[in-house]
Amino acid sequence: MKEQLEQISQWIISSRRIVIFAGAGLSTESGIPDFRSPGGVWDRYDPEDFYFQNFLSSEASREKYWQMATEMYEPMKKAQPNLAHLAIAEMERLGKLDCVITQNIDGLHFKAGNSEDKVIQLHGTAMAVSCLTCGKRYDRDEIQERLRKGMKAPKCDTCGGPLKPATISFGQSMPEKETQEAYHRSSISDLFIVIGSSLVVQPAASMPLVAKRNGAKLVIINRDPTSYDDMADLVIHGQAGPIMDSILKEAKKKIDNP
Ligand SMILES: [Zn+2]
Repeated sequence: MKEQLEQISQWIISSRRIVIFAGAGLSTESGIPDFRSPGGVWDRYDPEDFYFQNFLSSEASREKYWQMATEMYEPMKKAQPNLAHLAIAEMERLGKLDCVITQNIDGLHFKAGNSEDKVIQLHGTAMAVSCLTCGKRYDRDEIQERLRKGMKAPKCDTCGGPLKPATISFGQSMPEKETQEAYHRSSISDLFIVIGSSLVVQPAASMPLVAKRNGAKLVIINRDPTSYDDMADLVIHGQAGPIMDSILKEAKKKIDNP
């Protein structure tokens, strides 16, 4: 293990375009429940109610959606970045981060200190709400306050259109700009580090492949094995927080004493 951490820190020093690919494992280490796991909200709600088409077509679906979204938002709002988030933010400060491509919607990369232009949020963000008709954005807390006061399916102040958290729902297409940007950054990266993702959700899961095909070194840090482990240059199975913390400490030692 020590040799592996050493190797990755060496690659961080010598690489110029490092892309971090962050998955749900990063959020669960901050205490945010994995909503797909047993006992998660999907056990108590019917996913059918949350398809984007249903949200668009039925006021009843919108009300159920907001009820569930409120339940999911509470732990997210309280969550704090863990050692892995902090290590990624440190990489930015050291000038060692091209970007983070994240599947997470909890905004923890920003709480850790990453800047807006370094984070590509593939699945949107739960920290904002947008109008599906005119695109107007709202702060999430402002809308949650309306729900707390009894509103069931909030509407846009400007145009009366339905408001929805700015996340990508089932049946809703991936954000075009973010997806393209993520593929582009993957294709020109020279070190691609997957953290806390089992790489099953497409199209995001094909990004390590794009990076690898274009010559990047591929590192996977995940609790469980993934189907990409065989093609990776280095794989570590374990908790992302302590592992990333050790790697960054090692890298900083090398920077301080070259
Ligand atoms: Zn509107």
